[in-house]
Amino acid sequence: MLKNQDSMEKPGIRVGIGYDVHRLVEGRELWLGAVRIPARLGALGHSDADVLLHAICDAMLGALSLGDIGIHFSDKSAEFKGIASIELLKRTYSLIRQKGWLVGNVDCALILQAPKIAAFVPEMCAAIATVLEIAPDDVSIKATTAEQLGFAGEMKGIEAKAVCLLYRG
Ligand SMILES: [Zn+2]
Repeated sequence: MLKNQDSMEKPGIRVGIGYDVHRLVEGRELWLGAVRIPARLGALGHSDADVLLHAICDAMLGALSLGDIGIHFSDKSAEFKGIASIELLKRTYSLIRQKGWLVGNVDCALILQAPKIAAFVPEMCAAIATVLEIAPDDVSIKATTAEQLGFAGEMKGIEAKAVCLLYRG
């Protein structure tokens, strides 16, 4: 018998984690948090390969044990080829809403060696907050280099992590 089996006794909050990686290649655009970043290398992927938005989608889905972005938006599907990931975020949010949940806050970490993205962060927060119906300061985006270590440090790829709190509403 689970101690917390009665759903009525469960707290009205849930938390999820998301993680994503994309390769960096020449000849692709770099989209992060729905903002196009001027960069020599772009992210490779079926969609616009916005690693940050993918991690946020996974965190939201994870909070409700709904699997991951690949289950809901297959990279084999022509429907999602080249799609702007902000559209995937909208669809993920609508799924969360249908289940009766709202977003409390989102905290993210981006791991990339270059370019510097600090100047673009306010625009990213605003775009994400608009979709999730929260205030821009409910979205936190931190960027760090990988100290030239590993695939991110060698600029072979870009990494994002996100945590999302949902509450019943
Ligand atoms: Zn991705």
